Amino acid sequence: MVAVSKTVGMPEVQRAREAGIRDFGENRSPLFLQKQQAFPGERWHFIGHIQTNKLKDVVGRASLIHSVATRHALEVISRLAIERQARQAVLIEVNVSGEASKDGAASQDLPSLLEAAGQLPGVEVRGLMTMAPVLRSEHDDAARETFASLRRLRDNLAPDYADADTISLNELSMGMSDDFEDAVKEGATLVRIGRRLWS
Ligand SMILES: *Cc1c(COP(=O)(O)O)cnc(C)c1O
Repeated sequence: MVAVSKTVGMPEVQRAREAGIRDFGENRSPLFLQKQQAFPGERWHFIGHIQTNKLKDVVGRASLIHSVATRHALEVISRLAIERQARQAVLIEVNVSGEASKDGAASQDLPSLLEAAGQLPGVEVRGLMTMAPVLRSEHDDAARETFASLRRLRDNLAPDYADADTISLNELSMGMSDDFEDAVKEGATLVRIGRRLWS
């Protein structure tokens, strides 16, 4: 579980640490940087929309960047990581549902993005991430279908990268407060929980 701390302050992060939580997520680079520097011993995940000019605050400090969706972002991350003599672990965010308002790469662009990532010595791809569509009703299965689609996409692509040094698709980051149970049923390895944790 990644504890998404974007709505809380340092005291709550400290309490969560005392309760044994080691993985925290932030979606904006200034707060990511502030909290990571306050608690550098924990694993800090960057889960927000990527603005490439803000990546300098994130690369080398994030244990995992979940939300990489473009070749340009991959290139900037790789360059910064090499400057810092590091290799940055990332997930590729996929817009499974195809909603125009959503971040993430189109499913059909994944092979070419992974191909590009494999040529960049500063990045290591660990898997895929997605966001569920907004539910229209309590009985809407769209979230679970989205998670199942991401898993199938991964299952179909994984054999192509079985021998790749810097690409594996083991991680599936999917599920938040309202839908993490469905995500786990569909094979999530990382759930990103905010509200349910702090309220
Ligand atoms: C805020 C956020 C979460 C956590 O959402 P909750 O509904 O509060 O659990 C997870 N992932 C991303 C990308 C977020 O921005």
